[in-house]
Amino acid sequence: MVRRLDNCEAYYERDGFGLLSGKVKCYLQVGKRKYYSDRRMTREEMKSMADQSQVMPVKYLTVGDRDYWRYDDRWFTDSDGHDSEEVQALVTAYDLRLEKKLSEAKTVAAARRLPDGSLRESIPESIRHSVWERDGGACRSCGSKSDLQYDHLIPVSMGGANSTDNLQILCGSCNRRKGASVV
Ligand SMILES: [Zn+2]
Repeated sequence: MVRRLDNCEAYYERDGFGLLSGKVKCYLQVGKRKYYSDRRMTREEMKSMADQSQVMPVKYLTVGDRDYWRYDDRWFTDSDGHDSEEVQALVTAYDLRLEKKLSEAKTVAAARRLPDGSLRESIPESIRHSVWERDGGACRSCGSKSDLQYDHLIPVSMGGANSTDNLQILCGSCNRRKGASVV
C-alpha cells in the first residue's frame, strides 16, 4: 500500500563533516517531523536523484520499516518494502482510479445540470445518469452536444414514465422540431 504525502519536502543541510567533504545531508520534513538520511551526497548526486525521480520512483530515505519515495514531483511512502517498479505501478494504478472517479463525477454533474424537458416531475438521478450514458451525452437525433435536455418519448401528460426507456437526450432544436411534428 503506497500512500501519497502532500506535506513532505526535501531539504539539505551542510554539517561540519559536510563542509570538509563537500557533501550535504538530506532530510525530509513531513508535517512537523524531520527525518534525516544517513548518507551524505554531493550536489551532483542530489541533482541526479531529483532528475531520476521524474521518470522512476527514487527512494530518498528509510525510517524504520517505512520508505519515502519521490516520483513525478510528488512524495509517497510505503512500509511493504516495495521496489521502484512496484511503487511506480501502484502510483499509476492510483492515478487511474482517481481519473476514473473524476470522469464519473463529471458525468454525474453533467447529467444533473441538464434541464428536465418536462418540468412536471423531476427525473430520478440514477435514471438521468443512465440515459446520459446510453446517449453518450449528446442529442440522440443529431449528435449535438449543446442546449441538451431530457425528452420523454411518450409525454408525461400522456402517461409516459420517467424511465430510461421512455427518455432520451435531445438538443433544443430537435426537441422543438419533434414537438411540432407530434401535433
Ligand atoms: Zn439535435
